[in-house]
Amino acid sequence: MSLKVYNSLTRQKEEFQPINPPYVGMYVCGPTVSGESHLGHARPFITFDVVYRYLMHLGYKVRYVRNITDAGHFEEEGREAEDKISKKAVLEKLEPMELVQKYTNLYHWAMSQFNNLPPSIEPTATGHIVEQIEMIKKIIADGYAYESNGSVYFNVEKYNIDFTAMGQPYGILSGRVLEEQIESTRELDNQEEKRNKSDFALWKKAPAEHIMRWQSPWGEGFPGWHIECSAMSTKYLGEEFDIHGGGMDLQFPHHECEIAQSTVCNHKMPARFWLHNNMITINGKKMGKSYGNQIMLSQMFSGQHPLLEQPYAPSTIRFFILQSQYRSTLDFSNDALQGSEKALRRLMEAFEWLQQQQHIGSANEVDAALDEKVKKLVFDFDSFMNDDLNTAKVIANMFELVPIINSIKDKHIASGALHTDTVALLKKQLGVYILDIFGLQSSRADNNNKLEGVLELLINIRKEAKSRKDFVTSDKIRNELSALGVQLKDEKDGGMSYTIQ
Ligand SMILES: [Zn+2]
Repeated sequence: MSLKVYNSLTRQKEEFQPINPPYVGMYVCGPTVSGESHLGHARPFITFDVVYRYLMHLGYKVRYVRNITDAGHFEEEGREAEDKISKKAVLEKLEPMELVQKYTNLYHWAMSQFNNLPPSIEPTATGHIVEQIEMIKKIIADGYAYESNGSVYFNVEKYNIDFTAMGQPYGILSGRVLEEQIESTRELDNQEEKRNKSDFALWKKAPAEHIMRWQSPWGEGFPGWHIECSAMSTKYLGEEFDIHGGGMDLQFPHHECEIAQSTVCNHKMPARFWLHNNMITINGKKMGKSYGNQIMLSQMFSGQHPLLEQPYAPSTIRFFILQSQYRSTLDFSNDALQGSEKALRRLMEAFEWLQQQQHIGSANEVDAALDEKVKKLVFDFDSFMNDDLNTAKVIANMFELVPIINSIKDKHIASGALHTDTVALLKKQLGVYILDIFGLQSSRADNNNKLEGVLELLINIRKEAKSRKDFVTSDKIRNELSALGVQLKDEKDGGMSYTIQ
């Protein structure tokens, strides 16, 4: 059975056929490194890590490109916001690139905690200014963008008229018609520079106070947000590639803008399959800064947030995310996470016990009905994954297998009840799915995460002691950790790092 995925572009499940098998090009929109990633960001990165792992499991040679947005101009909830990176850099008295590096490091740390594989290429926006300028020049030359007061805007109305005639209107992905899009766009600044309300910036003139700026044919400025993904996906994956992924919130405007830019430049729809994961809500509510319910990933791991009853290990969060199919909504609650924590422990205990057994299974005492049941449960792993990557159903099958494994362990089921071939299949497929495809870690890795949580806790206690000038306690923590081979180091931004020897 071949892989079928839901293509947001055609709004149906389609058989996945790469343009040039066995090669697959996949582009996923990465983080904006002007701050720390929150729980909502974990879902696309874990989802597409599993997509990446599954494609490789199927034998494809995947080039996975995930960018880092470290420059320019950002849009927030349909509104053109100020440049977050240079604003925050001024606040924290850092060089913009120092800030970018700090949050990039933090992001990489969180990704490794989740056991996400690094992408094949991780290009940065600041490293591709030349490519972005070239692309903008091409769009202007083709008549779909115009310069206005040192900024350059994409002419959405002209694109929509011309490309609707070719069957590719603006809004093809999100299904929004242009009038609706104008309604929902509440851009406040620089409206007078635009010909139409729906036009979006390809290049922005840098105001005097703007730190990050580059020379361009239109004066000093910085790129708009959308153009970087078009420039970098074209550079590393070609004019037409297989999969473009991201969160559902990126469909409009970001991915619509990418499609328009790339189509004008390359005369092709950039990607064949558009995959979008659904959002995470918190206790039934949308998550966002303005709702006061954003939980940063480091807070999830340390439990240091008013909404959290306890710390949650990265593997628990990963498992919680995989317990839902990626297109379904997923609601965070302490109850749900605690349920995932217990379930994962049960699964890993049964799995690890089974892996250690050398002598279970037989050839002649087999309980045929049970043996058939186990084989069917295991074979269905592939069928469920091939049906739009339904990790939830695979996990449900695993939890039908866990009590069978535990019954063999507790000797309620005879150790010869399963055929030796079935036991071998079960061991192999659980290993492939739990470790290789789902990227779940053993309890030992989980213990390492717990150790990190304990260290964070000690660091926080020491910080509090220092702030109330209780140097006896702060020195005691530092010296005793040092004796255990953990060196603490004060960072100049007030934070603290540690190294374990
Ligand atoms: Zn993007």
